[in-house]
Amino acid sequence: MMLNIGNFMAEELDPFKISQQQLDDAAEVMGLDKTAHAILREPMETLVVNFPVKMRDGSVKIFKGFRVHYNDARGPSKGGIRFHPQENLDTVKALAAWMTWKVSLANLPYGGGKGGVICDTKKMNQTEIENLSRGYIRAIGRFIGPKVDIAAPDVYTNSQIMAWMTDEYSKMLGYNEFGAITGKPTEIWGSEGRFNSTAMGGLYVLREAAKLRKMNLKNAKIAIQGFGNAGKFAFDLSRNLGAKVVAISDSSAGVYSPKGLDYDKLAAEKAKIGELKNYTGKDAEKVSNEELLEMDVDVLIPAAIENQITNANADKIKAKIVLELANGPVTPAADKILFERGILDMPDFLVNSGGVIVSYFEWVQNTQNYYWTEDEVYKRLDTIITKSFNDVLATQKKYKDNGKKISPRTAAYIVAVERVAAAMKVRGWY
Ligand code: NAD
Repeated sequence: MMLNIGNFMAEELDPFKISQQQLDDAAEVMGLDKTAHAILREPMETLVVNFPVKMRDGSVKIFKGFRVHYNDARGPSKGGIRFHPQENLDTVKALAAWMTWKVSLANLPYGGGKGGVICDTKKMNQTEIENLSRGYIRAIGRFIGPKVDIAAPDVYTNSQIMAWMTDEYSKMLGYNEFGAITGKPTEIWGSEGRFNSTAMGGLYVLREAAKLRKMNLKNAKIAIQGFGNAGKFAFDLSRNLGAKVVAISDSSAGVYSPKGLDYDKLAAEKAKIGELKNYTGKDAEKVSNEELLEMDVDVLIPAAIENQITNANADKIKAKIVLELANGPVTPAADKILFERGILDMPDFLVNSGGVIVSYFEWVQNTQNYYWTEDEVYKRLDTIITKSFNDVLATQKKYKDNGKKISPRTAAYIVAVERVAAAMKVRGWY
């Protein structure tokens, strides 16, 4: 898919090709072994399933689903399951590749995986969604497991769906297996602290990035694109840093207040009015999503969808730090522009790794049958994600000392790819 961006050069927006391009760029800078590079350009295994689901009118509909194991040299695959009408194998492959780099950067004992089903859950009732979830797990059951591939929620899937899947998987085995699927409700041993783990991890990264840029986050101005799980919790938690969220948006519109938006009021209003375009409060003006991205703020947090900062608007971004809480919000071309402009763009697979880190904690707790408090979860999350941040910085410095200026994203890729390549090497894969 190419983007129509007028006078600007068209950019490749196919997610799998982008993921390969990002790997190629890192491979060139780090001088990656050619065979290791060839192995890492493609997923190890992909499973495509077509499975029947009983619908509310008694009919049976066939759904198509996917599960990808990208590379398991460092451990079992780990990745979410998406329910999406436009799901396709290329997107799942790209997301599985990104998971591989994300878990490696966080130094978790995992490889990357991902799954998805082509479906429109907005048109289905709860029974149909439950039947779909159980049907998908029956279809991919032999492909997952706590030692093989651990699934989790993602776009349009949630903890209830993970509970149905865990139940179905346990029935297939004939005993309870809580360690094959994370993101479960705490009643069946989901982890404490899971709900805002992604935003919490992102804000730990922001704290470190601000230190690096000598930015005082107290009263710093933040704009957030997206008011869903990631964006909403980032808004909520940024209050702990003393920062001011001056703008936030959803897919319908954005709101702006130079004095800072009131989280409690806006969250309550959003729950009532649904879309921000219906917001009539006098304390905030409307802004478009395009305007929000280009605002004069200290920190910009894209927390909605992919390809929001492209070569069409990267030269208009005024934020000093971009914190990529969404997956893929900055295209490779835009990444280069931001880097050249001296904007500190913290890459998605570092910033939003809090979700998978706490998923890892859930799996560890499930396999030990010993459970931690929320405080313990956050402390351990802070330790792991801060270490990842410092690993990225150290790699940037190492390359700079050797005369190569590389972006945080390239440095993060190098850290992640080096670890997977090293594991493949000692295992004798090349
Ligand atoms: P969500 O569906 O809960 O929320 C998405 C938000 O983005 C909604 O407010 C929606 O209205 C808004 N949005 C959609 N299109 C938009 C547009 N064109 N402009 C502005 N806003 C738009 O999703 P989420 O879980 O918050 O995930 C958001 C991003 O964060 C995704 O890229 C996701 O992959 C990534 N992420 C989320 C988690 C997590 O734990 N929730 C973990 C890792 C990565």
